Amino acid sequence: MTPAERRTALEGIAAEVRACTRCRLHTGRSLAVPGEGHPDTEVVFVGEGPGMNEDRQGRPFVGRAGDLLVRLLATIGWRREEVFITNVVKCRPPDNRDPEPDEIAACLPYLRRQLEILDPALVVTLGRHSMGRFVPGARIGQAHGTLNPVDPATGAASAMVYAMYHPAAALRSPDVERQSYDDAAGIPAALLEARRRRAATPPAVTPNPHPVTSTLPRTPDATPADPALDAPTFF
Ligand code: URA
Ligand code: SF4
Repeated sequence: MTPAERRTALEGIAAEVRACTRCRLHTGRSLAVPGEGHPDTEVVFVGEGPGMNEDRQGRPFVGRAGDLLVRLLATIGWRREEVFITNVVKCRPPDNRDPEPDEIAACLPYLRRQLEILDPALVVTLGRHSMGRFVPGARIGQAHGTLNPVDPATGAASAMVYAMYHPAAALRSPDVERQSYDDAAGIPAALLEARRRRAATPPAVTPNPHPVTSTLPRTPDATPADPALDAPTFF
């Protein structure tokens, strides 16, 4: 897939999500939150579900948790526009409760398709609910800051997963916040290792569409073929 084809495919999914009525969460939403970011990135961050601010704006991680995520990314020199950010469920659960298993199941095909299109080298899970999709049975207290293989059924067929605490948990606990900064510091090394494994394991069907060139997520500057990609992409 070319970057332009990826962008179009992601926009198609975003349009489906905005019109979706597959689970009861659609009844309480103001705006669905499909996710956003660079269509040619190597790194996808997956949170749990939209909160109040996200529901109002239709964009992921735009409240206080999002501000912390941006600060964490800044410590490694990354900007949110360079990666892709989305959630396990795309509509806000009422009163910020955890999403129910049937709601997660109804929504997962969207995340799977986004991951199939983006084909990231690294998935960073934010919080235990997101981690549970990618590393079933892991405990966040042990798994945070570690790199694990991803179940290809998630759609991220040749990715590794790096687990982090949810930024909202870090806002509630100075210990978790400190740990989150330590874990963020480990992301570039996790990406390098994920790239190394990916290069050593050729995909079964299609050739690797993302040549390994830099130590950072591919930035808009790294994709000069399509000038439209120089702008941040908000789906
Ligand atoms: N928390 C999440 O899990 N996702 C968001 O988009 C915002 C807050
Ligand atoms: Fe559809 Fe997902 Fe929203 Fe449920 S949470 S209505 S499955 S987009």
